[in-house]
Amino acid sequence: MMRCPEFRYFAPDTVEEVVKILAEEGPRASLLGGGTDLVPNMKRRQQTPAVLVATRRVKELHNVENDATSARLGSGITLARIAASPTLRPWSALVRAAAQVATPHIRNTGTLGGNLCVDTRCNYYDQSYEWRKAIDFCMKKDGGVCWVAPGSPRCWAVSSTDCAPALIALDAQVELVSKGQTRIVPVAQLYNDDGIEYLARRPDELIASVRLGDPTGWRSTYWKLRRREAFDFPVLSVAAAVKLEGDRVVEARVVFGAVASRPVVADVSALIGNRLDDASIERVADSASKLAKPLDNTDFTLGWRKRVAKAYVSGALKELRGDDLETLGLLARRQSMLRVLS
Ligand SMILES: Cc1cc2nc3c(=O)[nH]c(=O)nc-3n(C[C@H](O)[C@H](O)[C@H](O)COP(=O)(O)OP(=O)(O)OC[C@H]3O[C@@H](n4cnc5c(N)ncnc54)[C@H](O)[C@@H]3O)c2cc1C
Ligand code: SF4
Repeated sequence: MMRCPEFRYFAPDTVEEVVKILAEEGPRASLLGGGTDLVPNMKRRQQTPAVLVATRRVKELHNVENDATSARLGSGITLARIAASPTLRPWSALVRAAAQVATPHIRNTGTLGGNLCVDTRCNYYDQSYEWRKAIDFCMKKDGGVCWVAPGSPRCWAVSSTDCAPALIALDAQVELVSKGQTRIVPVAQLYNDDGIEYLARRPDELIASVRLGDPTGWRSTYWKLRRREAFDFPVLSVAAAVKLEGDRVVEARVVFGAVASRPVVADVSALIGNRLDDASIERVADSASKLAKPLDNTDFTLGWRKRVAKAYVSGALKELRGDDLETLGLLARRQSMLRVLS
């Protein structure tokens, strides 16, 4: 049986107490949401915090406040709650992303804050301690070399959060609270393009909430590629959001997940002012998918994942213009179970 290394455990009742402990303990402390990512990582010695600060007893982190034009989601709410919430359906990309994380058990425990900070992934890193020791570890933890790109000075582990690309497509913000300070930043600014230092959040900061803006006129969706539909992390995802006036696009965002160490925002400005017709969708899908440059450190062959990137952008935009999912072919049929959520 794999056991966690020793740690000190705090379970405070208020945000003030949480950030006080984070300020005192510094980088040796980690926040603990549902623990569905951190605890297995601790057992494999990928992450070895000396102090855990649990957020589950902090009531205000479990609040959801929303009306037709905005939402404020406490970072401690579970993914299952987001997936099941009728009032969050106008922010469809987020609901769909949350509904596709892992398994029902994990969604019942895993939190929104934990999902945004989930560790980056790589075939050479997501292994037992003994496996990693047998290859003399790697740069991300305990070693000196990157086995994916041995000459590289940086780690290329892959951002694998489902909710972050969806929230970036929705132009959401996070509320970061530390002792005596609160800052509100776009979700896109939470991430660095680095597999080790993948978060721009400071160690003394708690993600307290996620803010969503007015969804009026917007349509959004989230498409996810993974080997086992009922279980796996994304190996490619596309979050897309468009705002329509009549049949013309006035704003649009497309964000890739799981193709780099952070979510990647595509330039889809060519859609603005146009109808979502086949020609403009294919043009944008072609240029956007060039940004998806997955490395050979997760599941499936990278050449195939690149091809799927284009198909997913195209399929997601066609879904947003109103095409029936069944008509969008095999890739879309995999998403069809999600129609119950829309
Ligand atoms: C079998 C399996 C399959 C999985 N599949 C997926 C998947 O498909 N998609 C996916 O996205 N994830 C997946 N996960 C990862 C994980 O379960 C989810 O991302 C989950 O939402 C993490 O939330 P948590 O509350 O359990 O995070 P935790 O494990 O508690 O924490 C994760 C990280 O977030 C930090 N953290 C937690 N709360 C906060 C906060 N409020 N502010 C700042 N930092 C915080 C922690 O310190 C830690 O670094 C999977 C995990 C397993 C075991
Ligand atoms: S990308 Fe390289 S350094 Fe990063 S986890 Fe993989 S092998 Fe390790």
